[in-house]
Order: sequence, then structure tokens, then C-alpha cells
Amino acid sequence: MSAANRLSMALALSSMALVALLLLYAQRSGLSAARGTVFEVAGLALSVGAMVGIGHALWMGRYVTELRRLIHHLETLGPGQNLAVTYQPRLGTEELAEAIDVHVSAIRHQNQQLICQRRELEVRVRLSETERQHAQAILNAISDAVIVTDAFNEIIMSNGAAARLFQFRPEEVARWPIERAVGDPALVKMVRDIREAADVSLRRTCEHCMTCDGRPHTFSVTVTGIAQLQPQVGSELAGVVLILHDITREKEIAEMKSDFVSNVSHELKTPLSSIKAYLEMLIDGEADDEQTRDEFYNIIQGETNRLQRLIENILNISRIESGVVRVQREHVALPMLAKEAIDVMQPQARARQIELVDSGSPLFFQIFADKDMIYQAILNLLGNAIKYTPAGGKVTLAMSVDEHEGMVNVSVTDTGVGVPKEDLPYLFDKFYRVNDHKKMAKGTGLGLNLVKHIVETVHGGRVSVSSTIGKGSTFAFSLPLADRAVGAMR
Ligand code: ADP
Repeated sequence: MSAANRLSMALALSSMALVALLLLYAQRSGLSAARGTVFEVAGLALSVGAMVGIGHALWMGRYVTELRRLIHHLETLGPGQNLAVTYQPRLGTEELAEAIDVHVSAIRHQNQQLICQRRELEVRVRLSETERQHAQAILNAISDAVIVTDAFNEIIMSNGAAARLFQFRPEEVARWPIERAVGDPALVKMVRDIREAADVSLRRTCEHCMTCDGRPHTFSVTVTGIAQLQPQVGSELAGVVLILHDITREKEIAEMKSDFVSNVSHELKTPLSSIKAYLEMLIDGEADDEQTRDEFYNIIQGETNRLQRLIENILNISRIESGVVRVQREHVALPMLAKEAIDVMQPQARARQIELVDSGSPLFFQIFADKDMIYQAILNLLGNAIKYTPAGGKVTLAMSVDEHEGMVNVSVTDTGVGVPKEDLPYLFDKFYRVNDHKKMAKGTGLGLNLVKHIVETVHGGRVSVSSTIGKGSTFAFSLPLADRAVGAMR
């Protein structure tokens, strides 16, 4: 039952109650004369009550319809519209409409504020995502392995180098506990220790060895605490950054350099002492016959040449590396040049009982190159082959021409000690020497590096090596032909 109907019913009931009271009064007073008047008054009261009730019910019905109209206007209000614009108040609903308008405006205002806040938050989210991607791109550009953990020792960022080192997929390690991604307990402990120390100024650095790709690697490890970004949190530790810098190569180079210094000084000292000794004997008149003197002179000359070669190797490499080398290109008949080198090396090979063979080339061709440099490269390869081949072995120089590619390939093959597979990639590096060979022959680790510089840096060719331990090696280089016209040797 609606409120209006309840009101009408209350009025009708009160009229009836009035009539009943009047009737009771008439009966009690016993005034029959007044009974007629009472009945009239009661009838009148009843009619008035009924009329008031009906009138009120009708008015309430209209009021309810008006309220429905108001609700309909409310429901169809356009964005930003007020009731005052579309709704004409009737039956005194102005106040109600105004109150609704005030509330609607307040709600709209709040809604507007919320929309603004949401947009602001969306912009912030996009901004922080862009910043995160930017930071990730910077991390990925770093060649050192980097892992960032949060206050719970869970990974929040890592880069490609770390993924390769610890063999995980970068996209799947987010929120992993550090020990799940980093299998090395010592590293995990370092990260946890810094986290537990909770000191943002703490930084620890140490050298750490790990096996990567089946080889031992040395890393310089840095573990640093990072502070919270929000200033109000103060200097609380937000996480830890773990950085691993591979120093294997640097250590090897440092070791090679110190080996080089001791080798070079030895290489310089040996011929110098020999020259000094023979000169002293000559001065002291110990070589009294012509033949002995000639022999001494030859030894002095040989040792001087050796000294000169060593110094030239060092100087040539540094000149090529610094780009100040003077290259004198000319047309060079490579087979002739190779033959010259064989003739020069023949005495050395014979002294070590090694057969030195020029398998040559039946073809005549030329390269456009610096003759002295190419000669030096061939001498270095032949010298090494003789040096690292035991007595009774064989060294063969061969050449082949690829007319189609316009290239000539020069190779020196020996039946010597060979090179371990893991050393092959480093043979042409400066100062590199195979450990097992150090006892076998003196050297500086510069000869092959010079060959590589001469062939690749200066002449745009390519060096290569293949070797089997205990069976021998083939060192080769290829160079572009001066022109593709290749003729038969006369
Ligand atoms: P080195 O003065 O030590 O000979 P190189 O640069 O000429 O320096 O050679 C580098 C290293 O390569 C050598 O120390 C040796 O270990 C290895 N090597 C070079 N040539 C040969 C070869 N023909 N057979 C085996 N090992 C070789």
C-alpha cells in the first residue's frame, strides 16, 4: 500500500471513529430528540471524511504520477544536464528537484575527479612501464651479467648476459627467488648477506671462478645494496644488484704480458750474450785461424739477424696496430716468393733433420701486395712448422688458386706436435702460446699475430688453422689475386 493510500485510509477511519463516538454519545445521553441531529452530523462527518479521503487519495495518486515523471526525467538526464533544464516541477516538487540536482552535481563532480585520477594513474602506469623498458634496454646493452633482486631476495630485473651465463629465459625469472636462477651457492650467499646487512652503502667485490661452456672462467663480482626510491622510506634497503664481469681474458692477457716480458728479455739476452761471447773471443785472439774467425763471424751475423727479426716483429705489429705502417704494394709472383722463403729456411730445417718441401704451384699468378710483408708471413709459418716438428718430420708448402673466387691459398703443413683443440681459437692472438709448447721451444707469441695482421689487416685476406694433436698442423692464408689471369709456369 502506498503512503498516499495509507493517509486516505487513516482519514476515512478517523471519520468513521468520529461517527461512532457521536452515536455512542447519543445513546448514553438518551436524548431521542438529539438522535436525529446526531445522525445528521454523523452523516455529514462521514461524507466529509469520505470526500476528504477520496480527494486526498486522488491528490496522492497525482503526486505519485508526478514523482514517476520526475524519476523518468532523472533516468533520461543527458550527460552534464540538470533536472532544472528538462523538468518542469509541479505539485510542489521544486524543492525535491533542486535537492536532487545538488546531489547529482556533487556526484558528477566526484565522478569527474575520479576519472581524472584514473587517467593520471594510467599515465603513471604507462610512464613507469616505459621507464622499466628503458632500464631493461640499458641493462641488456651491458655486456656484464646483471641481476637485481628486491627486499625478499626475488629477482626483479636481469639482463641478457645474465640469462646466457646462468642459462635461464629472461622473461620467466621475474619474481624467482635468487637461488632458483643462480645455481652458484657462493653468489647466492653474497646477495643474501648484503640483503641481511641492510646497509645501502655496502658494496662487496671479489674474484669468483665458475665453469662456463666447459671452461673455467674468472669473474669480478660486485654486489651492491640499493636504497628505496621514496625519500620518506629513508635509507632502507630496497634490494641488491649483482654484477659479474668476465675477467678471464684480462687475466690471460696479463699473464701473457708477463710471459712476454720474460720471453722477450730471454730472446733478446740469448743472442746478445752469444754475440758478446764471440766478440770477446775474437778480441782476445782466441780465433787464430781464418776458418774459426769465419765461423765466429757467421754465428755473430746469425744471432744479429735473430735479434733484428724479433725487434722487427714487435715494431711491425705495433705499427700495423696503430695504423702508421707504410705499405708498398706491387705485383708479386707468389710462387717465386715462396721459393725464396723455402731456400732461406732450408738450412734451419736440415739442422733439425726436417724435410722441407716446396710443392709449389704449376701456375703463374700474381698478387698485388707488399712483398716484404708477405715474405715475412711465409717465413713465420715455415719457422713455426720447423720449430714445432720433431726431428724426422716433414714440412710442406703448398699453393692453390681459386680462379672463380679470384683467391690464392698458401698453406704450410707439418707432421709436428699439433695444437690442442681448445687453444686453436687463440693462436693468432698477441702473446698467445700453447702451454705444452713452452718447454719445447722458445718464442714470444708474436709470429702468428704478425701473420694475421699482415694478411687480414693490411691485405684484406684470411688466415686459418687446422690441427690434430700428435699428427701435425696446417696453417694457411688466402689473398686476392692481382687479376684473374692465371697462366702456366714457364
Ligand atoms: P711463438 O714465438 O711462440 O712461436 P707464434 O705466434 O708464432 O709464437 O705462435 C704462437 C703459438 O702457436 C706457439 O707458441 C705455438 O704454441 C703454436 N704454434 C704455432 N705454430 C705451430 C705449429 N706449426 N705447430 C704447433 N703449434 C704451433
